[in-house]
Amino acid sequence: MGECGLDYFRLSEDEDEKKANIKLQKEVFVSQINLAKKYKKPLIIHIRDASNDSKILMIENNVKEVGGVLHCYNADEQLLSLSDHGFYFGIGGVLTFKNAKKLVNVLSKIPQEKLLIETDGPYLTPHPYRGSRNEPKYTNEIATKMAEFLNLSKEEVADLTTTNAKRLFNF
Ligand SMILES: [Zn+2]
Repeated sequence: MGECGLDYFRLSEDEDEKKANIKLQKEVFVSQINLAKKYKKPLIIHIRDASNDSKILMIENNVKEVGGVLHCYNADEQLLSLSDHGFYFGIGGVLTFKNAKKLVNVLSKIPQEKLLIETDGPYLTPHPYRGSRNEPKYTNEIATKMAEFLNLSKEEVADLTTTNAKRLFNF
């Protein structure tokens, strides 16, 4: 069920508009969480500049019932504890970027049984293909980097993340 979540990246400068938009985003997010619970589907969650509010809403609304994935995980450490609420961490092309320090540093703190690889295509194309349209085949570059940073073989990363995806999506 998703993508859903909170995105405060492009909020209005106008305080009233800003408040109204945040209120609306929260209402929609909660109704989407409820829908996921009704149909027993995992949540695909998008969080941008809204870690604290997202986490509070998720826990208050018992997302643990269905779990899901923090898609394009924003490397915010305060979200790591969502792994105890059935959440997985989607790692995308950013991991291959030169300025990915924050994500690289937090990577080893993510429980390995909660790691996923994702495309976010057509965006966030991994290095060295940056600038061209992102394709699922480029997840190979993310797996290579993940193996390097976690001291695993690429095969281990492939097995691990595939097993994790199957567990989450129940196939
Ligand atoms: Zn997104």
